[in-house]
Amino acid sequence: MNLTKTDFIQFLNCPKSFWLMRNKPDECPCEELSEYGQKLIKEGYEFESYVTQLIKNLPDTSSFEFQKTFETEDGLFARLDIARHNDDGSINIYEIKSSNSVKDEHIYDTAFQAAIVRRLGAKVGKIFIVHLNKDYMRQGDIEPEKMIVFADKTIKVKEQLPKIDSQINQALALLDQESIDETSCSCLYLSKSNHCSSFDYFNPDIPKPSIYNLPRISSRKLEDFVIENRFGLDDLDSDELSKLQKLVLSSHQNNKPHINLADIENFFSYLRYPLYFLDYEAYGSAIPVIDGLRPHAHLPFQFSLHVLEENGTLTHHEYLAEEIVLPIKLVEALEKYIGDYGSIIAWHKVYENSRNKDMAQLYPAKATFLNDLIDRTLDLEDIFKTGYVDIAFGGSTSIKKVLPVIVPELSYDSMDIADGTSAMDGWARMITEKDANKREKLKQDLLAYCKLDTLAMVKIFQFIEAQTNEGLSDGIGE
Ligand code: SF4
Repeated sequence: MNLTKTDFIQFLNCPKSFWLMRNKPDECPCEELSEYGQKLIKEGYEFESYVTQLIKNLPDTSSFEFQKTFETEDGLFARLDIARHNDDGSINIYEIKSSNSVKDEHIYDTAFQAAIVRRLGAKVGKIFIVHLNKDYMRQGDIEPEKMIVFADKTIKVKEQLPKIDSQINQALALLDQESIDETSCSCLYLSKSNHCSSFDYFNPDIPKPSIYNLPRISSRKLEDFVIENRFGLDDLDSDELSKLQKLVLSSHQNNKPHINLADIENFFSYLRYPLYFLDYEAYGSAIPVIDGLRPHAHLPFQFSLHVLEENGTLTHHEYLAEEIVLPIKLVEALEKYIGDYGSIIAWHKVYENSRNKDMAQLYPAKATFLNDLIDRTLDLEDIFKTGYVDIAFGGSTSIKKVLPVIVPELSYDSMDIADGTSAMDGWARMITEKDANKREKLKQDLLAYCKLDTLAMVKIFQFIEAQTNEGLSDGIGE
């Protein structure tokens, strides 16, 4: 049984899912690596190549070794990104992370590497975590010496070694176990956001919907329900739930959405026509792709804008950058289509407002316009927190959960680009694509996806507006 750094981190995250993945891979409902996860790995390799380049440009590189592997007889395996052999026989460890800072998990996985080196009888010297400099701004070619930080974490990592050594032994012992208790797992006591894809495997008897579909449920309340073996929503009493949770329970019990007219009308009272339904797509990357950007900055490359007049007239505008450029043309297009009066509507507005804030910093001359957009932006998602709650959303307020329930005729299903990560990937491919037909196809896919995002908001808004006009309400929570 071998144990790599990735396995060890999986063990630290959850011993049970680690055991299942390794000992019953055919039965494990393990998630495949997402497109976003694959992008992060690619970025990691890209950053590593800059670090390698920086070291290889040193006058004397004879003491450095890249991708140095260490393997113990009992199956522990470590591959050091960079090892440096010191004159006293010790080895310096360089662990490369394409993040803007050192995180706790970096300390643990570097400690794993150091523990393996020590188990093989070598002495560990200094330990560096190599990461991106968040203050670096690209101007011209990438300057690795300015972009890369060598953080000396020798003391922090070595402090962890006794604990990590013991955890490595626990992981090896667990791998040798032929069976474990597969009848439940500790996430029973944690909210849904903590569950992995193996939750149903270990807890097959939990009904659906369940207590895990209740929003913002505290661990204390969950613990009470678990101890009392009350997992189904039918086992609960409205009195023991918070206002938000009551709404979900009400929808479940009445088998229909819970509608709170007062909350919806409150949202509507802030609306000023024309309504501008706005959605951005932005390209995020660890290494700045263009001058003027810092590591992990988001570069807005596209927007879709549906404008709804009070008389019901709907118009659509859009912008898509066809090369890597800073977003000045995008801002100018926004200025052309968005007047100085009317509400901006976004879904999960923190994203659109963060892009507006970034662009206001980038272009001080446009700051008044962009800050005004921020002030005028309302979040349509807010309605689905208390005003319109449907158990069919599964306790979520994501547009991807709300749209199929409210406007089933609109769907992302048949789209070649159907989420933010594939939009980033599609745009990166479009701007480098030489074949005109393939480039055009990617362009049309991107335009269609972003347009659907804002059209979905319009349709959802109109649906809610119709409910308000009909005065529908179940009277709970008003
Ligand atoms: S749901 Fe939680 S405890 Fe259960 S296997 Fe997944 S991570 Fe582990």
